[in-house]
Amino acid sequence: MIVQIAALSTYLPAWADARGHRVPGPDEDVTTLAVAAATGLGADALATVDRIVLVTRRPDATLGTFPEIVLQALGLDPGTPVEERLGGAPATLDALLSAAPGTLVIGVDPQAPAAAGAALAGPGGLSIERADTVRHSVPVRSRAAGDTADRVYDDPRLLRERGWKRALGGADATVVAGLPVRDVGKLVPGADAVAEAVEAAAPILALAHHPGLLVAVENGHSVSAQVTGSVPCAATARTPNPAPPTWEPRTPAEIPASLASYERALEAKVGWKAGECRECGERSLPPRARCLSCGGMETQDLVALPRSAAVYSVVTVRAPVPGKHGPYSLAVVDIAGTSLRTLAAVTDAEAGTARIGDPGALVLRRVAVRAGIPDYGYAFQPEEQS
Ligand SMILES: [Zn+2]
Repeated sequence: MIVQIAALSTYLPAWADARGHRVPGPDEDVTTLAVAAATGLGADALATVDRIVLVTRRPDATLGTFPEIVLQALGLDPGTPVEERLGGAPATLDALLSAAPGTLVIGVDPQAPAAAGAALAGPGGLSIERADTVRHSVPVRSRAAGDTADRVYDDPRLLRERGWKRALGGADATVVAGLPVRDVGKLVPGADAVAEAVEAAAPILALAHHPGLLVAVENGHSVSAQVTGSVPCAATARTPNPAPPTWEPRTPAEIPASLASYERALEAKVGWKAGECRECGERSLPPRARCLSCGGMETQDLVALPRSAAVYSVVTVRAPVPGKHGPYSLAVVDIAGTSLRTLAAVTDAEAGTARIGDPGALVLRRVAVRAGIPDYGYAFQPEEQS
């Protein structure tokens, strides 16, 4: 079966650790990384999506909300099927190789090196066809029921010789996804490697640049595909800011949650919508039961808002705040093309660097975790200075 790919998009977080690997910001998780990658496809491509497959090796502990959040944030029909798969690079390539037109496959790696990629199956200039599947069991990493962290069987030689080498087989790979760059150089001299990701996002990053034989590897398992042609890829990769060793707040704090108000606010908050009065046209953000202009009760419909904005006012909080990593900046921003303003945390930039008048975008982020429940909303991402 030959699968055509209509559009590609890749996303790298705006932070890097001491080794130079990208890491998610304090307000990012699998859900927001998936939305960031998929948003890059653009509204026209997203309008053709009728199914979503998410692949990650490291799901959020609370991934139960993934379908509702991702569909609202991308403006898709809330009835669109969403499938969540556990796996690394071979699982993503497998998902792509069996994708019907209209299927959006998203691969997310939330740990360093962190990355996300989105590929939409449909008529387009890029084709992939399965070449081979190799399966050996080399379980160097495992997690028993009740474990909170992986157990790693620390024998790199075993993994290389019995796992990766056999998974790669004699394939004449053009590009290898799922292994560190230096190992690809030793195992398959002449092949390219995906440097930015080693798990589920890696095959999608590879599709953007490398026609030929793509081999996706994890432990002793590989899936390979012949890749021909190309499609444009929207790549988001800001110049990384240095990330601190941890985003944990200095003083942990449990913030209470009201699930009733969470549920009421979800569509407006995650879909980025204001209330618009049917009687007088007045818009309110957040939506209100009573119109502030004409006094009408329950007269508001939800309307989608533009995602571009500019800083009206900004403040940087340097005092330690329980439950938050600091320092951080908060901005009141003017929403483009409207008379509305909103309060938003500044994201993807070092605290104190945003200035009044700076243009930017409102992006979906995990704005808080309340009683263990992720609370999603929009943060202001200043446009990168060139
Ligand atoms: Zn009104």
